[in-house]
Amino acid sequence: MIPISAVELGPDVEALVIDVLRSGQVAQGPLVARFEEEFAALCGVPHAVAVSNGTVSLMAALQALGIGPGDEVLTTPFTFVATLNAILHVGATVRFADINEADFLLDPKVVAGIGSPAAVVPVHLYGQPADVPAIVAALGGEVAVVEDAAQAHGARLGDRPVGSFGVGSFSFYATKNIATGEGGMVTTSDDEVADTIRLLRNQGMRARYQYELAGHNFRMTDLQAALGIPQLARIDQLVEARGNNARLLNEGLSGIEGLVTPVVHPDRTHVWHQYTVRITPDAKLGRDEFVDAMQRGGVGAGVYYPRLVHDYDCYRDHPRIADDPTPVARRVSGEVVSLPVHPGVSASEVERIVDVARAALT
Ligand SMILES: *Cc1c(COP(=O)(O)O)cnc(C)c1O
Repeated sequence: MIPISAVELGPDVEALVIDVLRSGQVAQGPLVARFEEEFAALCGVPHAVAVSNGTVSLMAALQALGIGPGDEVLTTPFTFVATLNAILHVGATVRFADINEADFLLDPKVVAGIGSPAAVVPVHLYGQPADVPAIVAALGGEVAVVEDAAQAHGARLGDRPVGSFGVGSFSFYATKNIATGEGGMVTTSDDEVADTIRLLRNQGMRARYQYELAGHNFRMTDLQAALGIPQLARIDQLVEARGNNARLLNEGLSGIEGLVTPVVHPDRTHVWHQYTVRITPDAKLGRDEFVDAMQRGGVGAGVYYPRLVHDYDCYRDHPRIADDPTPVARRVSGEVVSLPVHPGVSASEVERIVDVARAALT
């Protein structure tokens, strides 16, 4: 089976983890500080604050921007559930705008009809940046921005890295492009936001037992940072390997009836967290049948995501979720299939993926 994701850490990670183990400093320490410094450089911002996962990084970002009960937060319904949960957990109300079927991202044209939320959370889904400036402009310009960049480390819009437009939120969960098991990062150019997030992360404590706000324990450990630092150092190679696989998949899968290959905007650097095609009604098989055929052929195809994020009983009639109609996202959730694109996929495995897909659909 060619897996949909794989963790390959390498000898540099092993060496750094051993250093941490021998140091005895296994909680947050100097390696977290180094990881933060190097991650801030990736995003071209003065501050990066490491936290324990990508869900709390979204929460901390929203809270640091003053978002809470009574505030509306606009996001996409076509995302991982953490985006929704983070907004609910800070007490805010969720609004949804529809996506564009070509790129799976929040559509600035639709956003314009939504009113004036206190904050917007664009998701750089699958590793392609959403058009944050266009979304902000469509909302009238006065809106707090938290970029959900959990899938988009190192992606760029024009020459600007994601995480530098608003407050950036990243995840280092085991399947992400940089993987520390669990982990997250908040990036910002705002000194005060960075300071608040550092307080929130550590029980609201500035100096020992000097509490300034009701905080949390959102800390990352040096063991996690030891996994992240070497991967960050070779992120260009990791992204290039994903990009090469995506290009080969695009070539191999072109011209199949009912299969739409992913669109990359010319002004964006896609980092290919997922390579996602659409299986439309013109295809010989339905989407779920196609996924089964791929899996029988040894290809770990996955569906991200099979339903709208709030289309589950636990969110039905939720008092803080507005059920805005998003027909494009609803349809697309029945059409998407992601195919293995990670750096562990070899050129001959890409050929196999293409062969299995062609055999299933032609
Ligand atoms: C993974 C992910 C998150 C949450 O990250 P965790 O580290 O798993 O908490 C948030 N948003 C998106 C879009 C993600 O893919």
